[in-house]
Amino acid sequence: MTRLRVGIIGDPVEHSISPAMQQPAFDALGIDAVYEKWPTNAAELPDRIASIRLPDALGANVTAPHKLAVMELIDDITPLARRIGAVNTVINRDGHLTGDNTDEHGFAASLTAAFPEMKLDKAVMLGAGGAARAVSLALETLGAADVAVWNRDRARAERLKDEIAPDLLRPIEPDVETLRGELTEASVLVNATSAGWHRGEHPIPLELLDMLPDGAIVADLVYRDTDLLLAARKRGLGALDGLGMLVHQGARGFELWTGKRAPVDVMMAAAIEERAKRA
Ligand code: NAP
Repeated sequence: MTRLRVGIIGDPVEHSISPAMQQPAFDALGIDAVYEKWPTNAAELPDRIASIRLPDALGANVTAPHKLAVMELIDDITPLARRIGAVNTVINRDGHLTGDNTDEHGFAASLTAAFPEMKLDKAVMLGAGGAARAVSLALETLGAADVAVWNRDRARAERLKDEIAPDLLRPIEPDVETLRGELTEASVLVNATSAGWHRGEHPIPLELLDMLPDGAIVADLVYRDTDLLLAARKRGLGALDGLGMLVHQGARGFELWTGKRAPVDVMMAAAIEERAKRA
């Protein structure tokens, strides 16, 4: 029998952790499939998408810069992916391609797995870019009543509210004093900005964490301990990095491709190992 194929499409894809966590998942379930890196520039995208219509292809993950462009090249888009405005997973069923977005599930599942007792009422979200769109819908799924959105570019936060969740999102002035007041009532603070990968880099002054109530959770989408998370832990708050979101979004993709329950523990262990190799 032909070996099945699945891969990640992007430009670049060299840095992606997905192959390192997806391959062990296929192996653990004894599925004869290979997960590959498929570097693809914009001109190559149509042919690449055509290639996943073939019978040996399960589908693909799609990453930057193609999450929007791919929507023009496939047959169906799930309502969730349409609402988020981006496709990160393509599923091939007999040559028919459906685009989905698994980031919303990834964030929601990661947060509830880490904090099963969490009570989510008011949240503060930093950032209003692509990832913030999925996080907004995850916070909605988890039952948040109000999400204050703090973004350097306030107009972008306003657009996010209008396009994603007008009844849930509440853009606030991007100044420290406004944020200080909002944090006093937040049960969750999410960093959905890209600030934090490097030591000494943080989206907000770290002393603002003192404003959060006891028992609050700080979640960062960056895949490792950021200064924000280290400060949150020091302050006795819950702290969660973005690796769990990556793993759970990948697990949902695995389930869509195979119809089988993903071995999340296997994927998490592989992702942690891969991250450690790169540290
Ligand atoms: P994006 O669309 O480029 O948006 C970047 C966001 O970060 C914008 O809100 C931007 O604010 C803000 N920002 C950038 N630099 C900043 C700084 N120095 N201080 C404050 N805000 C800053 O990026 P994205 O796709 O949303 O990704 C955001 C982060 O999430 C990245 O670190 C990415 O790796 C991570 N991510 C993780 C997962 C996961 O599975 N864990 C999934 C997706 C993304 P302005 O609008 O004012 O420019």
